[in-house]
Amino acid sequence: WGWGWESAHPDDAECTAMGALLPGTLARPLPVPRVADLGIEAPAVQAPPSLARLISTDPADRAAHAMGKAYRDVARALRGRPGRIPDLVAFPTRESEVTDLLDWAGGHGVAVVPFGGGSSVVGGVEYRGDRHRAVLSLDLTRMDRVLEVESAGRAARIQAGTLGPGLENQLRPHGLTLRHFPQSFEFSTLGGWLATRAGGHYATGRTHIDDFVQSMRVVTPAGTSESWRLPASGAGPSPDRLFLGSEGTLGIITEAWVRLQARPVHKASASLAFTDFGAALEAVRALAQSDLAPANCRLLDSGEAALAGAAQDGSAVLVLGFESADAPVDSRLAQAVDLARSHGGRYEPSGAGAPADEAVRAWRSAFLRMPYLRDGLARMGAVAETFETAATWDRVPALVEDVRST
Ligand SMILES: Cc1cc2nc3c(=O)[nH]c(=O)nc-3n(C[C@H](O)[C@H](O)[C@H](O)COP(=O)(O)OP(=O)(O)OC[C@H]3O[C@@H](n4cnc5c(N)ncnc54)[C@H](O)[C@@H]3O)c2cc1C
Repeated sequence: WGWGWESAHPDDAECTAMGALLPGTLARPLPVPRVADLGIEAPAVQAPPSLARLISTDPADRAAHAMGKAYRDVARALRGRPGRIPDLVAFPTRESEVTDLLDWAGGHGVAVVPFGGGSSVVGGVEYRGDRHRAVLSLDLTRMDRVLEVESAGRAARIQAGTLGPGLENQLRPHGLTLRHFPQSFEFSTLGGWLATRAGGHYATGRTHIDDFVQSMRVVTPAGTSESWRLPASGAGPSPDRLFLGSEGTLGIITEAWVRLQARPVHKASASLAFTDFGAALEAVRALAQSDLAPANCRLLDSGEAALAGAAQDGSAVLVLGFESADAPVDSRLAQAVDLARSHGGRYEPSGAGAPADEAVRAWRSAFLRMPYLRDGLARMGAVAETFETAATWDRVPALVEDVRST
C-alpha cells in the first residue's frame, strides 16, 4: 500500500509522534490496509492454458498492481478504496511472451496496462476506462537483465523491467554506470523511466533518461518497433521521442540500448549555509551558469534544512557535490565554494565529521527516508507530497514568494 520496504515504515508510535508535531492530525494512525478487507472479486476473465504459467490471480498481486505510489494512492489505499483492481497480473520473462499476452488480450477485449516498479505518481498504472471486459496488469520486472555491454562504446542493451539497483549491480563489474538516480531508484525500472521521461537526482548536467537513450524496442498493437541504434543522428524526427514519456499508451518497451559512463572515482562534496534565501538562489544561478558543472547543486530552504537536520538555526543550505572518473575534483569544488561565498554563503572547511559534511549526509539520508515519512504522515491524516516545477530564472523569486504565501 505504501512506499518501499515494509520494515522501513515508521511504526505506530513514530507516526503518532510525527502527527503530534502538526496541528489537526488524527489522535492515532489509520490502520495499515489488509488485502482481505478489500473484498476483491473473482477475475472477470480466465487466461488460456498456454499463458497460465505467466499469470497470477492472487488477490495480493492484484491489489499491489492496482495503483501507483503518489500521496493520492496512499490515501486511497488507507481508506480501502484502491479503485479498479486488475483481473490478472502477468509476469513475462521474454519479449515473445509480451507479444503473446498482447495478442490474447487484444482479441478478448482485455485492457493491458504496463507496470514497471509501480512508482507512478500520475495514475499511470491504473485502468480508468470502461470499454473493456477485464484488465491485465503487465509486470515487466522478470525481464531484468543487462543483455549486452559494449565497453568501448560505453553502452548497454538492457531489459525494460530491470530495477535501478539490479541495473547498476550488473554494470558494476564493467566499471560502468548509467548514473540515473531518481529518488525512486530502488523501486523503479528502466522501462518505467523511459515511459515517464524520468529525471535523476545528483545530476545537474544529464538529468533526464532521454539523454541516455540510443535505441528502443517496443511491442505495439501494430507490431514491434525497433529504432536504429546510432551514436548520433540528425536525420528527421527521432522515433524514440515518440515513445519517451508515452506512459505505456503506445506499446510495451521491452529493452533499450543506453549510453553509459565510467564509474566516478574522484568525489568531493560540501555545504554552505545562507541567511538570505534570495542570495542563495543567486549563488545557485551563478553556479548553474558557470562551467564548473557540479554533479549535485541542491538548495534547501530553512524549513527543509531543519527537517533534514542539515541546519537548525534558520539557515538555508546549499549542498554541492562534484565527481569524475578521470581527475580529482577538489579544485572545482573549491572554485564553486568561492563562488557561493561571494554570494553570502558561509562555509566551514570540511574534513571527516566536520559540520559541512554532516549537512550533506543529513540531507542524503532525509532524502531517502522522505517517502516513508510521507506515508507515516498520511496514516495520521496529514497531506505531505513532492511537487515539481520548472521556471526561468527571472521568474524564480516570484515563484518562491507565491509558494510561500499559498
Ligand atoms: C517516492 C517517489 C520518488 C520519485 N522520484 C522521482 C524522481 O526523482 N524522478 C522522476 O522522474 N520520477 C520520480 N518518481 C516517479 C516515478 O518513480 C517515475 O515516474 C518512474 O520513472 C516510474 O518508473 P516505474 O518503473 O516505477 O514505472 P511504473 O510506475 O510501473 O509505470 C509508470 C508509467 O510507465 C508505464 N510503463 C512502465 N513500464 C513500461 C514499459 N516497459 N513499457 C511501456 N510503458 C511502461 C506505465 O504503464 C505507467 O504509465 C518518484 C515516485 C515516488 C513515489
